[in-house]
Amino acid sequence: MAGVAGQTSDTVDMLCKECHVYITNVGHMRKKGSQFTCKDPGVKQRIAVVSYQKKNRYRDSETIGEIKCGNPACGQKLGIAVNFLDSDGDVTLKGYGFSVKSFCFKFSETHKEMYKQWKKVPLDIPFMEGI
Ligand SMILES: [Zn+2]
Repeated sequence: MAGVAGQTSDTVDMLCKECHVYITNVGHMRKKGSQFTCKDPGVKQRIAVVSYQKKNRYRDSETIGEIKCGNPACGQKLGIAVNFLDSDGDVTLKGYGFSVKSFCFKFSETHKEMYKQWKKVPLDIPFMEGI
């Protein structure tokens, strides 16, 4: 694809679209159900979760709050905090539902892109395994 020659998921950073602080790397991103979550253990330090007063429960997940950029001067909404549930309704994974429109994808210092849909991101984002 034009402009991404030689790039793999691991070489593309995801920055807050508003303040351009590093949030995570596309190589950490995983699909889980309909969500795009992240297995980067360090991401917790770079985001803030504002819990909802009441969780929203769905068949295989519950949304528990909003994810915001961890830069206190910014606070851009980055997505939702999601608990993934098994068929008994027990939490199997505390994860995220990142909103693709909240990020700037940094391919290089001079090449940054924004996308309206995850499927338009020209990089491999595999499904979460083992849970
Ligand atoms: Zn920000």
